[in-house]
Formats: sequence, structure tokens, C-alpha cells
Amino acid sequence: MDSSDWHYQLRHRLKKRQDIPDSFRLTRLEENFFKTDSHTQVLPFLVTPYYFSLADPLDPCCPIRRQVIPVAEEFVYAPYEAADPLCESQCTVMPGLVRRYHDRCILKLTDSCAVHCRFCFRRFFTGTRKKALTITQVQQAARYIAQDKRIRELLLTGGDPFMVEDAVLDKYLRVIRKINPLLVVRIGSRTPVVLPQRITPDLIALLARYKPLWLVTHYNHSKELTSDSGQALSLLIDAGIPVLNQTVLLKGVNDNADSLADLFSRLVYFRVKPYYLFQGDLAKGTAHFRTSISRGLKLMRQLSCRISGLCLPKYAVDLPQGGGKVVIEESAIKSIEKGFYIIENYAKKLYKYPEENN
Ligand SMILES: *Cc1c(COP(=O)(O)O)cnc(C)c1O
Ligand code: SF4
Repeated sequence: MDSSDWHYQLRHRLKKRQDIPDSFRLTRLEENFFKTDSHTQVLPFLVTPYYFSLADPLDPCCPIRRQVIPVAEEFVYAPYEAADPLCESQCTVMPGLVRRYHDRCILKLTDSCAVHCRFCFRRFFTGTRKKALTITQVQQAARYIAQDKRIRELLLTGGDPFMVEDAVLDKYLRVIRKINPLLVVRIGSRTPVVLPQRITPDLIALLARYKPLWLVTHYNHSKELTSDSGQALSLLIDAGIPVLNQTVLLKGVNDNADSLADLFSRLVYFRVKPYYLFQGDLAKGTAHFRTSISRGLKLMRQLSCRISGLCLPKYAVDLPQGGGKVVIEESAIKSIEKGFYIIENYAKKLYKYPEENN
């Protein structure tokens, strides 16, 4: 067994300060995280050797490093931040099943992840129980979905659904499919980014049996699009599993037009459609990662002049207090005059578009 095996990668994850080699120079803020007594009470440090190898040992601003090496700022809580910023507990209808909308819901299959992302908005859920749902629980969720015809789409999330073994995932999908033959299944997994070794031919063969199935992954920087990662994406897409990407807007990681333009256009090169660019959720201890909405809007405006519509994701915020997702759009509408919208285009030219009454 070697480093190209996903179980090897999981077993050899870095978990403690001592697992970080001396050649990797920690800053004072990084060092202070591990020195703080309460560091064991927040999302534990956890990273695969593969993803850690992409981090720059000498540059504290490295976008990979910022995502996985914790800093003492994680102990700073803003008054409007919450442990459950999207109020998912309020919309939980049974273990793991969260329903906010009529037509779709999410099922958190496990709380385990391959890597602990420091900005994770489920940081008070991720890695806490290290348990996956039982097959009976998944069956109950599948029955709940079947008895409401309005539900057309199920998002399998977590944690990371690909953290469970193939045999277990197969059981989950079989039960969901058997009870809901027409359901669209969307799997959210960060493994193509942080553990591309997980995307094995066996996993692909398994997934291909349960179409229609979509995969949503989570790249935040083009440095993550390595050849291993690209290969994992090809396997998925060639097997007829469309791949979408969600990016979180992160200060010091990707909050500039060059990084985002590069990331989104390279994703499209790999046949992945950039779906959402998320404004950071108000999770406790993540303020150092958040960029203002006004800056986000400015970035979107710059991007819309630089990359194609295919490359451009929707900029959205998942509102606090369970308000749900809203697309944030800069009002390209400059004014409304005599029944016409005055709209500014990419070249800053103004156009009229009628306001119609039908
Ligand atoms: C994000 C989310 C969805 C999916 O929303 P899309 O806009 O379709 O991606 C569904 N249910 C819940 C509870 C969510 O948070
Ligand atoms: S993979 Fe997703 S759920 Fe897991 S730690 Fe990262 S952001 Fe959180």
C-alpha cells in the first residue's frame, strides 16, 4: 500500500503540531493556535499528506496553507457569529435530513471529512461524532422523501459522503434509489480536491449505477487543480457524472480577480462548471476569512468583464437565521426612466430595456 491509496492517505493524516515537519516554518499566529489550551475544543487540525504537500512551507500567505493550518484568530468570536450559522438544526426533520425548501433537501451522511478546512461553516459538526448514518436512518430519510412528491432533488453531504467505504455508500445509494427511482441525487464532496486518490475506478463504477447523479466539489484556488485532481475529475465526467464546483470567497486565499478568473477558467478547462461563489457564512471564529459583500460584488463585476458566462458562477450568500441562499447581484440597473430600465454593460455603455406589463 502506498501514498496513491486513499486509505494510506487517511491513516497518515497530520493531526498534531508535532506532525508538522520543522522545515515547515510556522508563524506566531499558527504556533499560538496549538499553544492555546482550548484548541482541542475547536475543529481539530487534520490534513492529508497529499494536500499538505501542496502547501508552501515558507510562505504564510500560501492559499493552500491558509485553508488547513489553523491560526489563533479562530478563537476570536464576533457577536453576530453562531455555531450553527444557517440554523440547520431548526430545519432538521429527522437525523441528518435538513429541509429548507419544498423541492430539495440535504442528507448529512457522516460528520467525517478527509481534511478539516479552517473556514468550515459546519465546524461545530464536522468531525465531532465520527459516525455515519445507519442504513435504517437513510431508509427513513428515503421514505420521507418518497411521501412528498414535491421533492425532486436530494443532496448528500456531511462531512464528506465519500469518507464512508464503498460497500456502505453502495447500500445507502441502493436504498435511496429503490425507494425514489426518479430522484436527482447530488453528492457534495471535497475529496477530488483534498484526497483525489479516493476517486477510484471502483467508486466510479458504483456511482454510475445510480444515475442521475451529480457531483458538487469545492475548489477554492487553481493551485488545487493538480494532475491527480484533474484525473479524478476526468474519471467522474467520462463516466457520465456531471461535476459542478462551489467556491467560498476567502480573504487571503482567493479574494482577488486574478485568482478567481484563473480558478474558474481552469475549472471549465477540466469540464467543471463553476456553480456558486459563496460569501462566507457567519460561523464562529471565521471572521479572519471573510471578505465584505461590497468587495465580493466588485470582484464579480471585474470577473464578468474578463471571463465567459460559462466560467462565471453565481455569487450567493446563505443568509443567517435560516434565510436560505440568495444570489447577490450588483444592480447593473442604473435607473428606471419612462418605462425603460437603463442597464450598464461590460463596457460601461448604457442600454435601454423596456419594462413590460405582462
Ligand atoms: C444549499 C442548500 C440546498 C441546495 O440549494 P441549491 O441552490 O439548489 O444549490 C438545499 N437545501 C439546503 C438546506 C441547503 O442549505
Ligand atoms: S470538506 Fe466541507 S464540510 Fe468538510 S471541513 Fe471542509 S468545508 Fe467543512
